[in-house]
Amino acid sequence: MSATLIDGRAVAERIRKQVAADVGALATSPGLATILVGDDPASAIYVGNKRKQCVTAGMRDLHRHLPADVPQAAVADVIDELAAEPSVDGILLQLPLPKHLDAVALIDRIPPDKDVDGLTEVNAGRLTLNRPGLRPCTPAGVLVLLDEAGIELGGAHAVVVGRSDLVGKPMAQLLLQRNATATVCHSRTRELASVCRQADVLVVAAGVPRLIGADAVRPGATVIDVGIHRTDDGLCGDVDRGVNEIAGALTPVPGGVGPMTIAMLLRNTVFAATQDFT
Ligand code: NAP
Repeated sequence: MSATLIDGRAVAERIRKQVAADVGALATSPGLATILVGDDPASAIYVGNKRKQCVTAGMRDLHRHLPADVPQAAVADVIDELAAEPSVDGILLQLPLPKHLDAVALIDRIPPDKDVDGLTEVNAGRLTLNRPGLRPCTPAGVLVLLDEAGIELGGAHAVVVGRSDLVGKPMAQLLLQRNATATVCHSRTRELASVCRQADVLVVAAGVPRLIGADAVRPGATVIDVGIHRTDDGLCGDVDRGVNEIAGALTPVPGGVGPMTIAMLLRNTVFAATQDFT
């Protein structure tokens, strides 16, 4: 039997509508500052989509585009300026940055309460300590998808493939907070397929096309595919299509996790404008 597909587009649309309603009820519309460095086509598309959806939700689009050869100090100045500007509620530095820039140092200049990507040391610490804060958009979106699909997390064995600061690590922490038993796999994990086969919930964020095949999935398990790759045959994820015949529920690529990331960014921007996390 084929897996039930978890429709990320529909869930993301509901979140965007809720965000627009929340924005409409505010006296001042929140401002999101996106910073794009250089002209990487994929990054330009991602930032363009974020800006468009920000405007559609009734928020202010405060974009900055910097040249690819911009010095570190000049990017830092732009972040400091946006940090000091009261009309800016959220700051998003689009990654990856050109190689000559130190992304970690720049991210940590973003004030934690404007860090709508949830990537600063302070927000990572708040997540680890289970305190209120801005959570990274993609793993937060995965959690919403799991909830919307009615997947029970308490006591479930959740296996996360990938340990990046952006997806894998915060994902495992969010699952742990929801009382799942969380196992994190990475490129040095032995017997990856056999570890994954133990999962009730398998979240794959490895950045390797079709890494997870049917042999790595327990029949009936819920599989969340965070990966996205452009191939000659079109878009694919980190999960092979054969998993469709084994899993109980599965996110498609495209139309699964992808649409959730921007929806959660919009939601984080409203949180940043309305909540005090200190
Ligand atoms: P990343 O920073 O490259 O991290 C990849 C992680 O996967 C690393 O922890 C790596 O292990 C692990 N890994 C790599 N090869 C592996 C293998 N053969 N077996 C087991 N683990 C392996 O990537 P990321 O930023 O987390 O993104 C992961 C994927 O999600 C990418 O395809 C990216 O495009 C996609 N993504 C999608 C969205 C979205 O909105 N849909 C958002 C963010 C990312 P080590 O730590 O040992 O190197």
